[in-house]
Amino acid sequence: MPSLSQDLRERIAEVRRRIAEAAQRAGRDPETITLVAVSKTVDDTSVLSAWHEGLMDFGENRVQEASTKIPLLVSKGCTARWHLIGHLQSNKAKRAMEIFDIVQSVDDLELARRLNRLSEERAARLPVFLEVNLGEEQSKSGFEASWLKAQASELAALDHLRICGLMIIPPYLEDAEQVRPYFRHARDLMAELNREQRFSSPLTDLSMGMSHDFEVAIEEGATLVRVGTAIFGPRSRLG
Ligand SMILES: *Cc1c(COP(=O)(O)O)cnc(C)c1O
Repeated sequence: MPSLSQDLRERIAEVRRRIAEAAQRAGRDPETITLVAVSKTVDDTSVLSAWHEGLMDFGENRVQEASTKIPLLVSKGCTARWHLIGHLQSNKAKRAMEIFDIVQSVDDLELARRLNRLSEERAARLPVFLEVNLGEEQSKSGFEASWLKAQASELAALDHLRICGLMIIPPYLEDAEQVRPYFRHARDLMAELNREQRFSSPLTDLSMGMSHDFEVAIEEGATLVRVGTAIFGPRSRLG
């Protein structure tokens, strides 16, 4: 019987191999793609093993769960970078900033302003992604593309945020090919925002692609992929 960590090691190697192959198909350097291991619902021991396998970036979607897990891992010497990838309620923004390094799920202007204010109090500059709602999605959260094109200056004015790029959560479609247009749309939107210099410095990152569609996302320009089940196995409860 292979040990748990051996399974984990093999799955991580497999995901890395698939990332490298997708990058090659697209003529991209695999080194430009960051694998964010989505560790929601995963216990700290497994996260620590994944970190020992060389994974440096982890994603959590709930502040409450992360609030105990991250400090526990830090106390065990784990120096990973933590990405918040789930909706952030404003009353949890302060706590989120204490434990996360990056907030990928900035989904409205009020939240962006609050994070900017909190970041200013800490004399910091918080790396964030703007979550974009590309329409036809089950989840209604995120900026509308048209709003971003017209009102980006409101976000660009927030000096204590470093806006790295865009994040999307497309609908779950069994056939990953059907998700491709969403990935392409996100890439085109980022290019357009950059062409029109909507932000003080160009956006560079696209966070898109999950376990079943990250290869297509990489072909369309993802610089971060958020992969949970392909690394840690199926989750016992919905994350
Ligand atoms: C859970 C989750 C993922 C990872 O999903 P998998 O299908 O397990 O890879 C990625 N992004 C977000 C926002 C998530 O909530």
